[in-house]
Amino acid sequence: MSGILDARPRVGYFFSGKTTMQAIGESIKNKLVNDYKSVPILVKESSTVYEAICTMFLEDVGTLFVVNDHSHLVGVVSRKDLLRSAIGRQELEVIPVSVIMTRMPNLILTFPDESLHAAATKLIQFQIDALPVVKPLASDSAAQKYEIVGRITKTSITKAYVELGSEEL
Ligand code: ADP
Repeated sequence: MSGILDARPRVGYFFSGKTTMQAIGESIKNKLVNDYKSVPILVKESSTVYEAICTMFLEDVGTLFVVNDHSHLVGVVSRKDLLRSAIGRQELEVIPVSVIMTRMPNLILTFPDESLHAAATKLIQFQIDALPVVKPLASDSAAQKYEIVGRITKTSITKAYVELGSEEL
């Protein structure tokens, strides 16, 4: 199972030629976003900053994804985005999240069939905590529209790491 030995009918087991490190590397790269994604927590773009703060506490997440009336992904709101608007003494019960969110097309996305390693690389490269897992919707306009099907966070990556450490080599 670790990939170090291979088996063939009428041949039996033989050395695959891979080192332990190569086998571990392969095992990491075989893990898919789809198998590690968790439930995305969504807010509407018309929700107020106050409502977004409440949702973040109630759902116990650090990142919220913002959708429009057609449930298309339009933005991301993180803890710091909400803190920033709170210390700015803005009217939290009036301002919609759409004013403070990071918006399309500046969002960093991942896809169900992308490797978890590629998603983890994006988290590190862009210094963010979460990625929306999306499926493109057929669209005739130039602006690409996406449906959100999950989320990948630093916790998803830690889970995969723990799992990998528990695998028997
Ligand atoms: P925190 O605010 O808790 O540090 P992040 O590091 O994830 O959380 O967010 C930093 C900034 O990056 C925020 O302004 C947030 O809106 C933005 N951001 C978070 N996730 C994404 C993403 N997937 N794509 C683009 N921008 C993002």
